[in-house]
Amino acid sequence: MTIHLLPEEIASQIAAGEVVERPASVVKELVENALDAGATHVQVRVEDAGQRLIEVSDDGHGIPADELPLAVTRHATSKLYTTEDLFCIATLGFRGEALASIASVSRFTITSRPSEAAMGARLRVEGGHVGAVEPLGAPPGTLVRVEDLFYNVPARRKFLKKPVTERRLIDALLTRYALAYPTVRFSLTQDGRVTLQTSGNGERREVLAALFDLETARRMLAVEALEERIRVEGFISPTDLTAGNRQKMLFFVNGRPVQDGTLIAALLRAYHTLLMVGRYPYAVLFVNLPPEDVDVNVHPTKAEVRFRDKEAIFRAVQRAARRALLAHTPIPDIQVDSPYTRPQESNPFEGHPAPWDAAPSWDGVETDAPLGGAYLPGTMPHPEGSSVPPAPTGQMPLTGGLPLLRPVGQIASAYLVAEGPDGLYLIDQHAAHERVLFERFMAQREQNLPSQALLEPVSVSLLPEQARLVEGELPVLARLGFQVEEFGRNTFLVRALPTLLAGMAPDAALRVLVEDFEEDETPLQGQVEAKIIARVCKRAAVKAGQSLSSQEQEALLRDLEACQSPRTCPHGRPTMIHLSVDILERQFGRRGAR
Ligand code: ADP
Ligand code: MG
Repeated sequence: MTIHLLPEEIASQIAAGEVVERPASVVKELVENALDAGATHVQVRVEDAGQRLIEVSDDGHGIPADELPLAVTRHATSKLYTTEDLFCIATLGFRGEALASIASVSRFTITSRPSEAAMGARLRVEGGHVGAVEPLGAPPGTLVRVEDLFYNVPARRKFLKKPVTERRLIDALLTRYALAYPTVRFSLTQDGRVTLQTSGNGERREVLAALFDLETARRMLAVEALEERIRVEGFISPTDLTAGNRQKMLFFVNGRPVQDGTLIAALLRAYHTLLMVGRYPYAVLFVNLPPEDVDVNVHPTKAEVRFRDKEAIFRAVQRAARRALLAHTPIPDIQVDSPYTRPQESNPFEGHPAPWDAAPSWDGVETDAPLGGAYLPGTMPHPEGSSVPPAPTGQMPLTGGLPLLRPVGQIASAYLVAEGPDGLYLIDQHAAHERVLFERFMAQREQNLPSQALLEPVSVSLLPEQARLVEGELPVLARLGFQVEEFGRNTFLVRALPTLLAGMAPDAALRVLVEDFEEDETPLQGQVEAKIIARVCKRAAVKAGQSLSSQEQEALLRDLEACQSPRTCPHGRPTMIHLSVDILERQFGRRGAR
C-alpha cells in the first residue's frame, strides 16, 4: 500500500460523518442556520423518518445568489472572521461545514432570497457535485431540501435506528429548539402529520406541554436568577414530581442544547436530601453567559461546551434551582374524597397549589432566603406587641419556613400533633429530628465537629473493599468527629465518636457509614460529607416509640421551624402532614354540603 491523498469525495464523506450522523443531525444543522438567520418562522417537513426527505424553510435574511456556491463549500461561513471570534461565539453555527457535509451525502437543493433582492436563486448539489445557480422567483428566506439522505453511503444507512426511533429523535430535537426560542414559530410535519406546532408567543410553559404532558408542564416550578453574569432560567420539577432516570433533565447554554456533567451535578445538588434515592428531577434550564466565558468549539456537533469557570456555573445553577425549590416545597396535604365536595369547587391543583402563581407571601416574608445556615425570616419571633399575622385564607404559605406551630400533644409515641394558622399538622418526630440535626451539622461543618472519646478504643474489622473506602475518607471522618485509625489489615481502631452519636456502639457507627460509601462510588467532593452527616443524623435522631415531654415536643417544633427545608427529612421523606381547616370542614360536612 502506498500513501495517497484521498479523493475529495471520500474526504468529504469522512468529514460529513462527524456532523451528519442521522436525519436528526440534518434537522439540527438546518434549524440552527434558520435561527442564525434571524427567522421568526421555521417549518420542518420530514418524510420517511428523514430518509426520503428533510425540508426546512425559514423567513430569515437569506443568501445572495452569488454566495450560494460558497454556502455549500466546506469551511465557508459568514459567522466568523478571526481567531478571536472563535472564542466569542454568539451564533449557533460557526464551523462552516454543515451544508457542505449534508450536500455530500444526499441530493441537496437550496433556494434562497434575501428580502432586499428582487429574485431568488436555487442551487443543487448531488453527492457533493455542485450544479449551477439558477435564478427563480421565491419568497424571502431560505428553503433547504435534503432528499435521499445517505443514498451514496449505504453503510451509514445500516446504522440508523428503526424509523419510529429516528422520528422520535427529530421530534425531541425540534421540541428543544422550540423551548429555547419561544418567540420563534416552529412547525414539524412528519409524513403529512403535524407533530409539533408552537405559536411563537414567547410562552415557554406552552412549549413545555409538548415536551412533558400538560399536567407536568403546569406543575413545573419557574427558575429565574442572575448571578456573576450568569443567568439561569427555566423550569424544574417540584420534589414530588420525579423520574426514575436522568433523561428528563435538559440544559441549554446560550440557546444551544448541551450535555454537560457540571450542569447535571449542580441541579442534582440542589435537590440533595429532597428526593428519594434513585429519583431524578425533570428540568429544562437555560444558562446564559457572556460568549467569551464558554467554549463551544469542543465537538463537531456542538453538543458539548467547556466553561471558563465551571465552579461559578455550578454555584449559579445550584443556587437558582435550590431557591425555587425552597420557595415551593409543599407539605403533603391529606387528600380526602369527600362526598360533599361540590364539583365546581374542586380545584385542579388541590394539594398542589399552582406553583407558578405568585406564592402567597406570608407577612411579606421573602421566599428566597439565602442558603447557608441563616434561618428563614418567616420563623423569626414576632416583636412584642405585634400579633401573629393572620392566616392566609385557604392555602398554606408556600414559603420555605413553617408557620408558627402550637404543640398539642404526641400520639403513638411517634407523631407530634400541632396546630398552625391553617389547621392541623402531624409531624413524624424521627424524620423531623433528623432534619434538625442534619441542618445543624451542615451549618457547623466548616469547623471540626465535637467529638467524644471512648473510654476504651474499639477495633472494628471490615471487608477488604469496605476498608479501602474507609481509608480514603479518614480525613473527612476526622472532621466529622470520628477518630478512627488504621490498625492492621482491614481493621480500624475507633477512639472517638461525634458527640451526637455518643452512646452508640462504635462498630455499628462505623459500619453505617461504610454502607453509604458503597452506594455511591463517585460522590462529588462535599457530597461525601453531606451523605455521612445524613446517615449520622438518622442514627442520632429520636426514634418512633420514644415518648417526649411537652418541653421536648415544643423544642423540636421550634427547631424544625428554624430549618431551611423543614418539610422533608434529609433522605427526602416528608416530615409532616397537613390537614387544613378546609379539609376538616369538608370531612365534618360543614362545607360543600349545602
Ligand atoms: P455555519 O452555519 O457554521 O456558518 P453552514 O454550512 O451551516 O455553516 O452554513 C454556511 C453559511 O451559509 C452560513 O454561514 C450562512 O451564511 C449561510 N446560510 C446557511 N443556511 C442559511 C439560512 N437558512 N439562511 C441564511 N443563511 C444561511
Ligand atoms: Mg450552520
